[in-house]
Amino acid sequence: MYDFHTHFIPEDVLSWLKENKNAVNAEWIKKEKNKEEFLVVNQKWGFELKKTFIDFEIYLQEQENVGITHSVVSPIPQLFMYDFPLDISVEMSRIYNKSLAALIKENPEKLSALGTVPLRDPDKAAQVLNEAMNFGLKGAIIGPGLGRQMLSDSFFQPLFEEANRLKAILFIHPLLSEDPRLKRRMMPNLIGVPWETTICVTDLLLSGIIDKYPNLKLLFAHGGGLLPYQIGRLDKGYEQWELVSSNLQAPPSEYLKRFWYDTVLWNQDSIDFLVKTVGEDRVVAGSDYPFDLCAWPPREISDKGAHSLLGDALVKDTQNSYR
Ligand SMILES: [Zn+2]
Repeated sequence: MYDFHTHFIPEDVLSWLKENKNAVNAEWIKKEKNKEEFLVVNQKWGFELKKTFIDFEIYLQEQENVGITHSVVSPIPQLFMYDFPLDISVEMSRIYNKSLAALIKENPEKLSALGTVPLRDPDKAAQVLNEAMNFGLKGAIIGPGLGRQMLSDSFFQPLFEEANRLKAILFIHPLLSEDPRLKRRMMPNLIGVPWETTICVTDLLLSGIIDKYPNLKLLFAHGGGLLPYQIGRLDKGYEQWELVSSNLQAPPSEYLKRFWYDTVLWNQDSIDFLVKTVGEDRVVAGSDYPFDLCAWPPREISDKGAHSLLGDALVKDTQNSYR
């Protein structure tokens, strides 16, 4: 079984954070006696720094214990550093990507990785993506845009061009929604997170980006947010309004099948619906481990999505090692 949605923080990244804690406003806060310290960067989205986030042996053992044979590990969104000056975001990306590359080099059968890129400067992001893939990473995890800037904006074109050229996976991972109506009862996380993904995937789908960059492998977190459930509404809009259909050659429901989605949905009926809607070759197992709201262990599904997303080379490697 694969896990395509899982996060880890290598030692070099933590050391960098400690050395630069003033520059990035990083705090380690003891909240509860029986819990580890919480890490809070720039007063946003603090989380418990569990051992499984930072101790690689324990992380790997826990993944193996539930039958995961190959994990595609990503940086955590709290360390994308999009809010900071470019040099900080570039430095963190390079350190994160290099340290993940070192981990996968030691464990090529068990682990692949995605890097992080300085999204605020898409030319630089393209360069960092290229470097990361030269180290052996499979692509990058990125946020769903920058504030009001949407990923289909021409601003981001240099990154998508390079990702298309490199046949990179771009894992679109939400950030916390800043909608002022959601500031209670954990709603930024509960519904704000999939809402951010919904906005991003809808915008990218309607822009026709996948016709322009057909080699782009876009993977959306948390089952693509709410869009698969609402795709009928987009199809109806496509029939009614040119503003919806002008960039597309087919109804939105057809374009939905050209992206990939993880299974972090906590509900078998929702996963079944997703697989039925987009096809089993477009859905990959994921957990969001080890965040509090992880779907652990990930639901076992067909490996067809993993194979179509990773390509044949790695699949052969893992088959040789495990089957
Ligand atoms: Zn995640």
